Amino acid sequence: MAQTQEQTVSTGDTPFVPIEKIVSLCKRRGFVYPNSEIYGGVSGIYDFGPLGVELRNNIRRFWWWSMVQTNDNIVGIEGSIITHPRVWEASGHVENFVDRLVDCKNCKRRFRYDHLPEENVRQNKCPVCGGELTEPRKFNLMMETYIGMLEGERMKTYLRGEASQNIYLDYDNVLKSSRMAIPFGICQIGKAFRNEVTPGNFLFRQREFEQWDLQFFVHPSQMQQWFDYWKERRFEWYKSIINHKDRLRFRAHGPDELAHYAKQAFDIEYQTVLGWQEWEGIHWRQDWDLSRHSDYSGQDLSYTDPETKERYIPWIVETSGGVDRTFLNLLLDAYEEEPPSGKDKEGRTVLRLNPMLAPVKVAVLPLQKNKEELVTTAKELHHKLRRLMDSQYDDVANIGRRYRRQDEIGTPFCVTIDFTTLEDQTVTVRDRDSMSQIRLHMNEVPAYLLERVR
Ligand code: ATP
Repeated sequence: MAQTQEQTVSTGDTPFVPIEKIVSLCKRRGFVYPNSEIYGGVSGIYDFGPLGVELRNNIRRFWWWSMVQTNDNIVGIEGSIITHPRVWEASGHVENFVDRLVDCKNCKRRFRYDHLPEENVRQNKCPVCGGELTEPRKFNLMMETYIGMLEGERMKTYLRGEASQNIYLDYDNVLKSSRMAIPFGICQIGKAFRNEVTPGNFLFRQREFEQWDLQFFVHPSQMQQWFDYWKERRFEWYKSIINHKDRLRFRAHGPDELAHYAKQAFDIEYQTVLGWQEWEGIHWRQDWDLSRHSDYSGQDLSYTDPETKERYIPWIVETSGGVDRTFLNLLLDAYEEEPPSGKDKEGRTVLRLNPMLAPVKVAVLPLQKNKEELVTTAKELHHKLRRLMDSQYDDVANIGRRYRRQDEIGTPFCVTIDFTTLEDQTVTVRDRDSMSQIRLHMNEVPAYLLERVR
């Protein structure tokens, strides 16, 4: 493989990976495809291929396990994409979910007003050509749809602009049906839709994407303590799944960014070739959401403490992140092009994904395709392993090429069946990151791998 280091933007020790490399890998190896590609595609909408769907499922499963399964005071729901339209009036989305856009009168480029550098806002100048900018115009991001068949009976509503609203809508039902008591939380993973006017940077800003939310309901007097708790927990969670720990930070929202009810808010940001960008938001929502839905629906959503009988609207700590941004950031974090060195004449592209999240955990490879005994033994081991984890069988091309193929998709282990296997039942287990190899008896392989990929 030719060296491509010069194409990466280097800042400090490790170069940042250009998005185009990830886009190309994703298409070539079946992680992500442009949606409706044969019709020219739709900007900001993507499909996930065979490896992408496995990686996505592993990411979601790990979030769900950490948030719902391992916390006794958290439960999950799965709400619908379409809700009553009043929901979006109560939430403020119909009125306020807008992007302000400006156009350059000279080069005709369009920018989000809040993404312009301060200097350009002050001088009203295009950041690309220096031309004069138009006045900002407002665009609502909600995607409209209609329920019902007959004209006049059709109801206009929206594809949800954020997944979290379902949680407020189901809060009372969850409380009554699951014997939860405050403090407790509700989680959801679900699709959200936004008519982003400037979609781009691959999965970073899409029009259809997936969010994960925790809404944690607390007594107002305990708000600060739970806010601090979830802020730290979520930061540690992201840190645990990346290699470049120094590229993660908090950014506190400034006074001009804070909603009127929010005492504070933080973004967990990750640094890539795009700069420091939001990965997840930790929000102080106070009693805003439940109060608004109480007002708009006429249903009392206050809580009565079972012991003290105190009645109040619970306050909420929200942690809201994106499955797709996690997918993209993990690939950007894991991708590496290693130059040729020592015994390795070609160099390689390797995805150093956390083994627990990798789409394929092990590849079983017979040393040669034309030796029936090797092939049969390899297939038997593969069939045994695939009941326990994602396993791939591959006998196409020489063994070096096959290792490279697995490195490129992040497979943490390759097991090779060779002629010694036929004599003593031992196999070679190769580690993706160090490329070191050990020999194990075939019977030891499942336990060895399970310990390392779960
Ligand atoms: P941004 O400032 O980047 O537009 P936001 O503050 O509007 O994001 P939230 O509404 O807080 O984002 O959404 C929570 C999370 O959902 C974000 O942290 C991000 O991970 C993800 N997300 C938001 N918008 C998009 C999008 N258009 N495409 C992909 N993921 C998104």
